[in-house]
Amino acid sequence: MPKQPHRLPQKKLKKSRIAAPSACHGEAQRERGRAISKRLEAHYGDPRPALTYRNPFELLIAVILSAQTTDEGVNRVTPILFKHFGTAEALAAADPETIEEIIRPTGFFRQKTKSVIATSQALVAEHSGKVPETMDELVALRGVARKTANIVLGTCFGIVEGIAVDTHVFRLAHRLGLSEAADANRVEGDLCACLERDRWYRVNFDLITHGRRVCTAKKPVCGTCFLNDLCPAAFTTTGWRAE
Ligand code: SF4
Repeated sequence: MPKQPHRLPQKKLKKSRIAAPSACHGEAQRERGRAISKRLEAHYGDPRPALTYRNPFELLIAVILSAQTTDEGVNRVTPILFKHFGTAEALAAADPETIEEIIRPTGFFRQKTKSVIATSQALVAEHSGKVPETMDELVALRGVARKTANIVLGTCFGIVEGIAVDTHVFRLAHRLGLSEAADANRVEGDLCACLERDRWYRVNFDLITHGRRVCTAKKPVCGTCFLNDLCPAAFTTTGWRAE
């Protein structure tokens, strides 16, 4: 089996369209993908973002802040951030040093400060302070790529244009043999080709949950994983067995 990439490459291209699938997706692979998504759904119930938010603006900012950190870490800083800067207008006019101090625990805080302020300024200037409801408009915002846009569109507006691919989804798509692509946009294209459209929104949450609870980066628990009969990487990923 070829060596499997387990990390999402840092360099990402902003694209507003789903990439063409890069792997061969025959009917057998599509059937396996559907079986995997059905089992995930049966195990993990209603999909919900782990990020806390009260409106589309808060979710958009929270997802931008979640890059390279945990949702729990973001949830610790956003109550303070939104208490003082809870609208696009307020955050657009914020002093960058103040924002840096508040979001410092999430890492990459200078870059993230630039992104959330620039995004807020664009929302005010171009969208009357509201979060836009199209992929094209969302990915035009600083710090927003397809992953963030897919989460915001699906969660806040019920619009499903693709599959949000974060580090867990990227890793599991490779382990489960649903993609061999080296960038998130192409992994999304492969997953969309494998899975029925009505599963696209929830499969992000299902794969993230599975990646946190069972198929972790360092110690996948293949021995008790309910997908091990469908997974080509079962028991081979790290050479470690949970038995
Ligand atoms: S069988 Fe192992 S590698 Fe495959 S999804 Fe389950 S935990 Fe991950």
